[in-house]
Amino acid sequence: MVPFHLLFPEVARLETRAVILLDTNPFGLPPDTYGLVDLYCEQSGCDCRRVMLNVVSDKARRQVATINHGFEPSPLDPEQTFLDPLNPQTDLSLRLLRLVRDHVLRDEAYVARLYQHYRMFKDAVNDPRHPAQKVLRALPPLRRSPRSRKTRRH
Ligand SMILES: [Zn+2]
Repeated sequence: MVPFHLLFPEVARLETRAVILLDTNPFGLPPDTYGLVDLYCEQSGCDCRRVMLNVVSDKARRQVATINHGFEPSPLDPEQTFLDPLNPQTDLSLRLLRLVRDHVLRDEAYVARLYQHYRMFKDAVNDPRHPAQKVLRALPPLRRSPRSRKTRRH
C-alpha cells in the first residue's frame, strides 16, 4: 500500500481529512487531532477496491492505528472495515476503529472522495505513461505489501 499523497501531493494537501476530538468525546479517546492518511494498493491490474487509513496522532506525531476498509462488502472478508493485522496498532486502535467505522465512514461525501482517490491512484498505476510512474518506480521494494490472507486477492 502506498500513501495517496506520494502520488498526488497537491490534491492530498487539500483533501486529507483530520478528526479533532475535544476533552469530552463519546469515543473515550484522548483529546487530539487525528489525521487520516489514505493509502492504496500499487499493484497494476489489481482492482481490490480497498483503502487503508493510517490514523496519525498530531500530539504524539506517530501512527496510532491502521484501518482497512473495503468499498463494498465482500464474501471474503466478514468485516468491511477492520484493524489491519499486518500494520501498526496501539491500545487506541479499537476506539479509533469505532470512530472511523461508525462515524467518519458514514459520511458519504468523504467515502466518495476516498473512492475518487482510489480511481486516480489506480489510473496512475495502470498507465505506464502517467507522470506518477516515476514515483512508483522509485519506491523501495520493502514498501510493497507482503502477501497474506488479507492481500491474497492481489
Ligand atoms: Zn490491490
